[in-house]
Amino acid sequence: MMQYQPTDDGGRIAQADTKFGRYRIIWDAENNITEMMHEPRHPQQSSGMSHIIHGAAGLAKAKLGIDRASDGVIEHRTQICKTCPKSIFKDAQLRKCSACGCGLIDKKLVVASEKCPLGKWDAVTDKPSA
Ligand code: SF4
Repeated sequence: MMQYQPTDDGGRIAQADTKFGRYRIIWDAENNITEMMHEPRHPQQSSGMSHIIHGAAGLAKAKLGIDRASDGVIEHRTQICKTCPKSIFKDAQLRKCSACGCGLIDKKLVVASEKCPLGKWDAVTDKPSA
């Protein structure tokens, strides 16, 4: 399970100890990722870990509500994904993108700095005002 805590400089840190190894992601006060660390439990677990770390960072952002896109951007992205042949539905809900392998596409859609792997929608900077 990912654990979150604030840092002294106004940022946040997320840490997890899993069967794949230990992860640590640090954001600064402006929500920029300043460090992503993965220590695999076994050497063969290092391949493909950057993909997992990226996914974990995106999930953490969605969970914490940081780097959140505006409602309009989320709706626009959702409509594109819903009509995309790479999207996978479960129980009539958009669940997965087979292009990037993201199994939590609904979380990816809300993160402003995320982008579609096929270029159908981009990262944005028009985040909602606080
Ligand atoms: S992220 Fe891109 S490729 Fe994946 S389902 Fe959405 S539009 Fe399709």
